[in-house]
Amino acid sequence: MDSLPCSQFQYRNGVLFCEGVNIRDLADRYGTPLYVYSRQCINEAIDNYESAFDGVSHKFCYAVKANSNLAILRIFQKKGWGFDIVSMGELARVLQIGADPRKIVFSGVGKTEEEIRVALSAKVGVFNIESEAEFERLSSIAEEMRCRPRVYFRVNPDVDAHTHPYISTGLKTNKFGIDFFSAYGLIKRAAACSHVELAGIDCHIGSQLTSFSPYFDACDRLIDLLEKLRTAGIELKDIDFGGGVGVRYRDEQIEPLGELVRGLRERLAGRGFGHLRIVMEPGRSVVAASGILLGTVQYVKTTPVKHFLITDAGMNDLIRPALYAAWMPVLPVVERHCSEMLFDVVGPVCESSDWLGRDRALPAETGQLLAVTMAGAYGMSMASRYNSRRLPAEVLVDGKLAYLIRRRDSLEDLWANEIVPAEL
Ligand SMILES: *Cc1c(COP(=O)(O)O)cnc(C)c1O
Repeated sequence: MDSLPCSQFQYRNGVLFCEGVNIRDLADRYGTPLYVYSRQCINEAIDNYESAFDGVSHKFCYAVKANSNLAILRIFQKKGWGFDIVSMGELARVLQIGADPRKIVFSGVGKTEEEIRVALSAKVGVFNIESEAEFERLSSIAEEMRCRPRVYFRVNPDVDAHTHPYISTGLKTNKFGIDFFSAYGLIKRAAACSHVELAGIDCHIGSQLTSFSPYFDACDRLIDLLEKLRTAGIELKDIDFGGGVGVRYRDEQIEPLGELVRGLRERLAGRGFGHLRIVMEPGRSVVAASGILLGTVQYVKTTPVKHFLITDAGMNDLIRPALYAAWMPVLPVVERHCSEMLFDVVGPVCESSDWLGRDRALPAETGQLLAVTMAGAYGMSMASRYNSRRLPAEVLVDGKLAYLIRRRDSLEDLWANEIVPAEL
């Protein structure tokens, strides 16, 4: 059987629990598909970052796109974290929970004029600039609005993160960041520009990195750039390494965070930049293990060559397997001691890419509840209504309590924004 994601998910008398709550009861109460999150698991992940960076000047901004539910954002706010956002929608979400705008970093390659204006009005703490054209757009709007935003420049260090190509972002062939050789000239221009305040450099080289060596390669390259800037009399305050720390979905070996901190500190201090504040924007590594997606097996289907468990949860609820061929653990909510077979766990959507797990040893039982674990990151935030399936409900467990943090879509929600012209 696949392994459990964290100590907050345990079997008790053969039934899966999240903290002190019986998951079968949650499914009875709220139906499936259902996302369930453990607050304690998120707190532990936050504390893990805090203790690894203890004694080191740092700033943490949770990457909202990993899981943007307001209640989840509130957990990070309560812990004093800022937010890494990539759209006006994410900005609105964090402002909605009363986040301090000064603790927001606005990243993303495609900021529209409207998004920049709204973010400037909200007094967002830092803009992560990803191109020369964006610098020009931002500085001219700032001039017009008579404000002086703080900026980081996201540099593309051209290092291979050795992760899935879709979530690799630090190669020179990717759309992200400013190419390494143009960065110096552009940052010099920004240093002389009175409409922005140059505060730092940034790189985010990819997601689900299972080794820290790409961070260290990126760090070395950024320091090369910092040295060049220093020669020109330009000093920065912050160095932002983005997110990207990997998690264990299957058998990945993730080094302890302390090793990352040690390696970065060693490099920075060794070359005269030990005073820089380290900024991190973790997403996946702080929420992935906290969440599970529950589905109910509707049919057990056997063909001459394959066995399928068809659940009511599908690629519309959790697209990672379909999009990245991602392997995610699938566990029975109620342990059965009957014989198991190898099944493909699939959803109801009309696509052959609609699978959640392949060749998993599970009981052959209709009506059973299955939990896809490690689903707290890039699960619900990537969910869609494809096939006019309603977005699932979400529940947050805290000790013995379970809170509904998103109600399931109603049928009317499916067409709430649609208009049939009277003339038709
Ligand atoms: C996606 C993203 C993150 C978070 O990445 P994780 O792999 O989820 O930690 C951080 N910063 C930026 C700019 C991002 O685009």
